[in-house]
Amino acid sequence: MENLINGYLSFLDNGKTERRCVIETIKQAEKAGYRSIEDLKSLKAGDRVYICKMGKAIMLFDIGSDDISKGLNILGAHIDSPRLDVKQNPVYEKDGLVYLNTHYYGGIKKYQWLAIPLAINGFVFLKDGKAIDVNVGDDPEDPVFCISDILPHIAQKQMAKTASDFVEGENLDLIIGCGPESKNDEKEPNKKRIISILKDKYGFEEEDFASAELEIVPAGKSRLSGFDKSMVLGYGQDDRVCSYTSLRAMLDVRAEKRTTCCLLVDKEEIGSQGATGMSSQLLSNAVAEILAKFPADNETPFELRLRRTLSNSLMLSSDVNSAYDPINWELYDKQNSSFLSRGVVFNKYTGSRGKSHASDANPEFIARIRAKLDAKGIRYQNAEMARVDIGGGGTIAKYAAEYGMQVLDCGVPVQSMHAPWELTSVYDIEQTYLCYKEFLTIE
Ligand code: MN
Ligand code: MN
Repeated sequence: MENLINGYLSFLDNGKTERRCVIETIKQAEKAGYRSIEDLKSLKAGDRVYICKMGKAIMLFDIGSDDISKGLNILGAHIDSPRLDVKQNPVYEKDGLVYLNTHYYGGIKKYQWLAIPLAINGFVFLKDGKAIDVNVGDDPEDPVFCISDILPHIAQKQMAKTASDFVEGENLDLIIGCGPESKNDEKEPNKKRIISILKDKYGFEEEDFASAELEIVPAGKSRLSGFDKSMVLGYGQDDRVCSYTSLRAMLDVRAEKRTTCCLLVDKEEIGSQGATGMSSQLLSNAVAEILAKFPADNETPFELRLRRTLSNSLMLSSDVNSAYDPINWELYDKQNSSFLSRGVVFNKYTGSRGKSHASDANPEFIARIRAKLDAKGIRYQNAEMARVDIGGGGTIAKYAAEYGMQVLDCGVPVQSMHAPWELTSVYDIEQTYLCYKEFLTIE
């Protein structure tokens, strides 16, 4: 299990964006015998294939001996996390300081991003199709970046504000350079200097930001936390903790009867929209590609076979839950909360205000999972995010449920979820991995 946690820490460090997670996933999958679907003319039991969507979502399939239309066992997690995205016309100079303009992505508390070391991670795409890899701030030799905050001495006005307007979204701009003003009235001399560094070091021009996806993420590595090293402190654990445990389970368990699938998708944090998000057709398109690699079934039309495959599937929506916080106990219904170090969490439903937008899992399905875990002594807890009507959130579960499959939200409890550094428990990560492995073997 030490191996699992070390692997997890390096997955977090190498996977700070969805594109990096996909790159890392392909590397690990290929080592475990997975091949890109394009390389295979046909499929048979025992084959392992992956389908990558636009470099930001990926699906792994391990083909079992049963007819696929009996359904898949799917572990589905998301690999995008809250962060700041660089705008398309981002660089400006103000009074000698050079800034990178950003637009935040996902649900963040903006004040948490002030005055901490930040890294820039992503790709710039040139008109000739070349992709430039930009990753500055994580290597100990690299410079880091930050967003300024007001010193307490003169922050009376700011401190009287509510946390939500403590800092304006428009002002979450990264300082990327500074220097003296020009003596000969030259405009923006420091901006010019920074742009020329980008050109020399990375080979792109200011206008190339137009076709870039650069993400601002906390700089530095994930770490074990606590004197007893019982926890992990790291960026992006929602939902890379469930992505990693799902991937690991998928690589470590060979499919027997039912075909298994690990789905790592993008855009969950902004509502699962877009071609790489779960509300798109990416899963049904991928399953259609898999089915098309098998001999045609003359009895059943292809479309019906596809629909049966999806609706007969079982899925764990591998996503995190908010861990009970003893300091802020009044926000939780303690008896229906998840606790750090008490195992994997089942969320029968998410949503808010009377379960709105929830995919309410079928109890028959939950009973099957309980039986599996109890037989193996794997620890689990049943929880909601918090007290009724205090807030809420959603996952990819409801989009999977649209195909008619059984789906249950099931993952790791997280303390300080969506903060730049989130806290999880080593024990829960282990129990979740064991739970996902058991789920894949359901017949
Ligand atoms: Mn999540
Ligand atoms: Mn989230």
